[in-house]
Amino acid sequence: MPNEHTGEPGEDHAERRRVEPDADASSTASHLLERQAILDRALRDEDHSTLSSIMRRNPPVPVALLALGSEEVRERFVKWLGNANIEIELASSATDALVRLGKRTHALLFTDRLELVQAVRQLHAGSATHVIFVDVAGTIGAREALRKGANDCMPAQASGGEEFWAHLTTARRIASLSSALQVALTDNRILATIDELTRCGSRRFFEHEFPREVERAVRLRRALALVMCDIDHFKAVNDTHGHEVGDEVLREFAARLTHGLRLGEDWVARIGGEEFAIVLPEASGDEAFQIAQRLCERVRDSPHETTAGPLLVTGSFGVSGFEPLRGERRTSLHALVKGADGALYDSKRSGRDRVTAMRPA
Ligand code: GH3
Ligand code: MG
Ligand code: MG
Repeated sequence: MPNEHTGEPGEDHAERRRVEPDADASSTASHLLERQAILDRALRDEDHSTLSSIMRRNPPVPVALLALGSEEVRERFVKWLGNANIEIELASSATDALVRLGKRTHALLFTDRLELVQAVRQLHAGSATHVIFVDVAGTIGAREALRKGANDCMPAQASGGEEFWAHLTTARRIASLSSALQVALTDNRILATIDELTRCGSRRFFEHEFPREVERAVRLRRALALVMCDIDHFKAVNDTHGHEVGDEVLREFAARLTHGLRLGEDWVARIGGEEFAIVLPEASGDEAFQIAQRLCERVRDSPHETTAGPLLVTGSFGVSGFEPLRGERRTSLHALVKGADGALYDSKRSGRDRVTAMRPA
């Protein structure tokens, strides 16, 4: 596995621990990497403005779903909407439309089927979709369509005159509103996922993703290790050199942790001020212990370059794990966190700058 920082092949443990790709394998690390990349791109942006700037320049294209029985009407709508920077998806039937609505978010739905309008309103996925009933025969009328849950009702023919175009303009406006909302939502999700200072996962990310890792490990009977670490005497760095230098140390410390882990599989989250959690799917307790030892050395071995000059920094580590191949049948989030936390505390108590494994239960 190539290493993100060096581009070189991964280290031994990464090779040894590699398992067959699996549809159910952890994708948490990749997910995190993707979001880091988006955040990095946004921050590299010349004007250093908000995260949205890139997306605003390339906003997501809203999607309109057409579930129209008449081929002639369908073709006409495809043509009109084609000029509106809207992605068009065609549904072959009402059932197909419901399946598609369940799979992704559609800003707009144009349909001439009243029963579909009603069915969409029962779907959670369809609740944000702006539904336009297309009155092909001109016999249903707006009152009935709105009663069934449509947001709008329009004639199928352009010969409906200005009224027809007014409905279409409204639909386009709704579509761009929907893409603006999507940008804001993505911004918020990314900001909540990543710790801005260190680019690690945030505490919230850890709280959301780690339980899923534990559930997956137990269900698939796969090993999982957790390493907790905390910078030693970090308060002294702040007190002596100031908070900004403290921040520089935090950033460098996090980079040293991330470096050398399996890209796209292991992941790091900053779960407290100067405390980090490292999640190692598929790692046995022994492997996790060795990895933690290597990270501990990596932190200590060379001074951290800061604006206050080079500083010697150390960290204390605690390791816990779940090993089904050694006969363990279950574990819990609580057991793993408590185990790693207790081991970290033991490292602190016995002199810091070291790794301790969880005591067997
Ligand atoms: P120990 O070896 O026992 O862990 O001692 P310590 O000094 O590292 O631990 P302590 O809990 O006493 O101090 C942690 C300090 O971390 C206090 C807090 O101000 C600082 N801190 C927390 N978050 C940040 C941050 O984002 N930036 C900076 N610069 N400092 C932070
Ligand atoms: Mg500390
Ligand atoms: Mg601490």
